[in-house]
Amino acid sequence: MIIAIYPGTFDPITNGHLDIIKRTRNLFDKLVIVINDNINKKTLFSVEERKALIEELVKEYNNVEVLVTSKLTVNFAEEIGASVIVRGLRMVSDFEYELQMSTFNHILDNKIETIFVMADHNYSYLSSSSVKEIAKFKGDVSLFVPENVKEALIKKYE
Ligand code: ADP
Repeated sequence: MIIAIYPGTFDPITNGHLDIIKRTRNLFDKLVIVINDNINKKTLFSVEERKALIEELVKEYNNVEVLVTSKLTVNFAEEIGASVIVRGLRMVSDFEYELQMSTFNHILDNKIETIFVMADHNYSYLSSSSVKEIAKFKGDVSLFVPENVKEALIKKYE
């Protein structure tokens, strides 16, 4: 059984993240979306809120699960028996950080492989932070996030 994790902050989940989930979930027996609970990173949504939003969106996918961790990604992967880390790549600017992270992860645990999925061209510009910026100034985020996330953003910035 091959278990993959898709780790991230997901503050909040966007259509770009969802696209990666839809495209990769059938490559593995199980895909676990792992929300990083990083106390050093200030987020708009709490981990509970982020988890609830994602769970609502993936509930029809029977091989997708959502978990939260504050542990090191490779340690958490080992703990749940995952052997693959999925990451999305948008622009060249993502590359340097992702190369560094995957190299560290490989040094820490060489049984776990990171695979990269190129963002769909429709979402290659899309980031959680730009969506938050638009929502903050009451812009329409319908094209960028699912309905439940749009509603949650409107409520946050009311
Ligand atoms: P992190 O803080 O770990 O980068 P994010 O929630 O920003 O967390 O992103 C999680 C993963 O999803 C990263 O690999 C990121 O490159 C990828 N990702 C983010 N936005 C998109 C998008 N629009 N299309 C494809 N992948 C994306």
